Amino acid sequence: MKIAIIGGGITGLSALHEIEKQRAESGRQVEVNLYEKGAALGGKISTLHRDGFTIERGPDSFITRKPEMLSLVEELGLSDRLVKNHTGQAYIASNGEFHPIPEGSVMGIPTRAVPFLRSPLLTKKGKMRAAADLWLPAKKEKDTDESLGLFFRRRFGDELVDRLLEPLLSGLYAGELNELSLEATFPQFRQMGVKHRSLIQASRSMAKKRQQSTGTGQKTGLFRTVKGGLSVIVDEMEKAASKGTIHREKQLQEIIPGEEKGYTLYFADGTKTEADEVILTVPHQAVADVLPSLSVGAEMKSLPGASVATVAIAFPALSLREPVNGTGFLIPKGEGDNGVLKAVTLVHHKWPHLVPDGNVLLRCFVGRPGNDAIVRDPDETVIAQTLNELRKFLDIQGEPLFADVTRWKSAMPKYTVGHQSRVDTWESALADEYPGVHIAGTFYRGVGLPDCVRQGRDVASHVLSHSTSSF
Ligand SMILES: Cc1cc2nc3c(=O)[nH]c(=O)nc-3n(C[C@H](O)[C@H](O)[C@H](O)COP(=O)(O)OP(=O)(O)OC[C@H]3O[C@@H](n4cnc5c(N)ncnc54)[C@H](O)[C@@H]3O)c2cc1C
Repeated sequence: MKIAIIGGGITGLSALHEIEKQRAESGRQVEVNLYEKGAALGGKISTLHRDGFTIERGPDSFITRKPEMLSLVEELGLSDRLVKNHTGQAYIASNGEFHPIPEGSVMGIPTRAVPFLRSPLLTKKGKMRAAADLWLPAKKEKDTDESLGLFFRRRFGDELVDRLLEPLLSGLYAGELNELSLEATFPQFRQMGVKHRSLIQASRSMAKKRQQSTGTGQKTGLFRTVKGGLSVIVDEMEKAASKGTIHREKQLQEIIPGEEKGYTLYFADGTKTEADEVILTVPHQAVADVLPSLSVGAEMKSLPGASVATVAIAFPALSLREPVNGTGFLIPKGEGDNGVLKAVTLVHHKWPHLVPDGNVLLRCFVGRPGNDAIVRDPDETVIAQTLNELRKFLDIQGEPLFADVTRWKSAMPKYTVGHQSRVDTWESALADEYPGVHIAGTFYRGVGLPDCVRQGRDVASHVLSHSTSSF
């Protein structure tokens, strides 16, 4: 059997890793090749080393509650390089000031009364409305999908959603809360809404269970990276792969079914190859491009991704007077004259090992849903606007040591209402019209690194166990 994996991000690399692992265990005759359009592997994982700073241009860490990334790191022999995030207070900007996210919040849902009631983030009326969740009758939740915004507004009212939940959750999933799918992003909230009378009560018991499972009752860092940055994981995956399986600068252009079985894959450089099974870990728009007669292609093409830029800005520590000592801050929509700055990580606090002593590093997320034109502007414009907006929140003296802009144009998947059933439809159309061609990765069934590793492994196991080709 000949398998082609398209895309050298974490999903494609995980699929390759799993296929090679199962092949070694079973001794099966499987030829596997991975094709990446760019010169570098890793996709959105991209670590830059500059002047002693380690800069994550895409993801900076992974959550440990989902175990797939941790077990990958173990398999690669990198466990001794794991680094935990320094815990600390994160803030939300409100009326030009920073206020801590109330202690005990779970994804923005308050679970402890005192810090929530003391927080200046909400008005008295907003707090009363949010607390109504405790006595509002349990409502039979709909079977069909709905937006996160609608769901939360029903339980908590608008203030908690606009001032706490939106800035927290829309950073994880690109898109407005009012258009994001409850089913595809946080299905546990819907189950909690059905099972418990109140989401606050349900979140409280969830937080308690988590604290007990850490054994100490202490808040521990939930996130991990590895020394040297996440690209170390990509490099190790490449080293672990058999020689000659990974092909760079190979942009897939079209997939044509063979006369009897399998497919011919045509690349932009004029070369071609044959494969029995094809694993596409590319955006859905790219799937539609390479399979021009796919019946659901028009729908796949019509759904845009969101754009964001990460802007890393380094300063000598003396240049920055921080009003608060925390890991970062979020800027809700409408705060700071409707700017484009969405969130800032104070890297020197959250990941001090990435920043040389005597310096600070700000990792800024720029571009909002419906207001992301800045991502297409030249570097000088992006840096100037980011600095301008930063100065509204922080006391910055002098000029930066350097700034690095990374654009993720239309690269952020938007899990809007109906996402899950759309992906189901796409998968069954592929199974009917192009048997042996599969989709996996961030655009389909989960956006976090552990979700992508899981999808890569699952699609690899599926291909190995369901293939009808002779081997
Ligand atoms: C700014 C940012 C911050 C993030 N922060 C976090 C975080 O802290 N933690 C976390 O868990 N997740 C985070 N994420 C999400 C996570 O990084 C992604 O979901 C994940 O890396 C996606 O992996 P993937 O392999 O599915 O896709 P990608 O990384 O997008 O890889 C797809 C690959 O396919 C290649 N490709 C596309 N078309 C073709 C073609 N025609 N032929 C050949 N190759 C092609 C691309 O070049 C690319 O290399 C973040 C994402 C971004 C953008």
